[in-house]
Amino acid sequence: MLPTKASRRRFLRQSTTAATGLLLAPGLVACGARSAPATDPAPASPPPSADDRKLGVALLGLGGYAKGQIAPALQLTQHCELRGLITGSPDKLPEWQDRYGVADENCYTYDRMEDIADNDAIDIIYVITPTATHRDFAVRAAAAGKHVWCEKPMAMTPAQCQEIIDACTEQGVQLAIGYRMLHEPNTRQLIQLTKDRTYGALTSARSYAGYAGSPPPADYWRGQRDMGGGALYDMGVYTVNGLRYGTQLSPAAVVRATQQRQDRPNGVDLTTTYTLRYPDGMLAEGKTSVVEKYNELHIEAENGWYEMQPMQPYQGVKGKTSDGKVLGPPVPNQQSLQMDDDALAIRNGTQPIAPGSMGKADIAVIRAIIESAETGKEVQIAS
Ligand code: NDP
Repeated sequence: MLPTKASRRRFLRQSTTAATGLLLAPGLVACGARSAPATDPAPASPPPSADDRKLGVALLGLGGYAKGQIAPALQLTQHCELRGLITGSPDKLPEWQDRYGVADENCYTYDRMEDIADNDAIDIIYVITPTATHRDFAVRAAAAGKHVWCEKPMAMTPAQCQEIIDACTEQGVQLAIGYRMLHEPNTRQLIQLTKDRTYGALTSARSYAGYAGSPPPADYWRGQRDMGGGALYDMGVYTVNGLRYGTQLSPAAVVRATQQRQDRPNGVDLTTTYTLRYPDGMLAEGKTSVVEKYNELHIEAENGWYEMQPMQPYQGVKGKTSDGKVLGPPVPNQQSLQMDDDALAIRNGTQPIAPGSMGKADIAVIRAIIESAETGKEVQIAS
């Protein structure tokens, strides 16, 4: 377990007890006092095995993404290990424990998850639940002294995002958002083209992500507006974040937006379109849907263009440029790269690639898009 403020407090408590215990144990003191002959160097403690160095991850929420993508991806990481499970459905545990060899003492239900504070096998809690629940679970995870990984979209409002950031800062734990594209090598090459202004100053951008599914049902959280369902939160956050990494700019305003909503109480948006304006006047178009299929991030610049198409599937992300370059290479698993990058940021004490501030900035854009669609007016984006 890597030190966090909470674990350091526990460590100090435990070390004090341990030191007191040593003083009361003469045999141990005598043993420790023996000095080794100069020709017989004390054996160096064995280097920790690769497994010892891995950070223990507890998944919170054992739904579709955790089961289908994150747990399998954890098996491919170099720096992480799936060691814990936190769920509201304890009937799921036997299957998960059998498949991944998770010990009973590392399994928790939501109502007992505070107990994880005393479990040094767990370094990180990865929140993979409906969006409207992220704030509460992430704050509780931080309060338990664990580093927090939180799925996209970070939360429902910028204020909720700030609560998560504050809880993590208070506890001295890291916070990373599950923006897997930022760890994907094709996408990272596109980002570098923008950072280097390889094709000159940017002139416009478009970012489209949608799938041709059925409208989500009313009794599932993805079909409920107040749970974070709908195209804009679910898929649109990829387009908003895509424009952020594709341009390396923060938008100043939503010029206009439209939302096609389900015609029922609490019904979600099925398709949303929006136009962003940047401080230098550049415009970008965004479109997202759960009933229409498209998937591209396209950047126009003075001397050419470059794009990812498709921009965000789990596999097969492809990029190309106006002068015929192909971006790459493809990777077998984005999520394992994401978790290894985020684990190294914890180990090295560096900023994660997708910090909470980025998650919050994207939610500010999403809220401004909703406001613009509702009012029919241009909306400034709070920084
Ligand atoms: P699911 O509906 O498949 O699973 C969500 C799980 O959350 C449930 O199975 C349940 O697990 C837990 N949960 C906790 N509280 C609630 C609640 N109030 N209502 C319903 N479920 C609850 O969703 P996904 O796994 O597809 O999505 C979860 C999160 O992951 C979302 O934020 C989503 O945006 C994100 N996601 C990210 C993807 C990416 O590519 N980065 C892809 C897909 C999803 P349990 O029974 O164990 O308590």
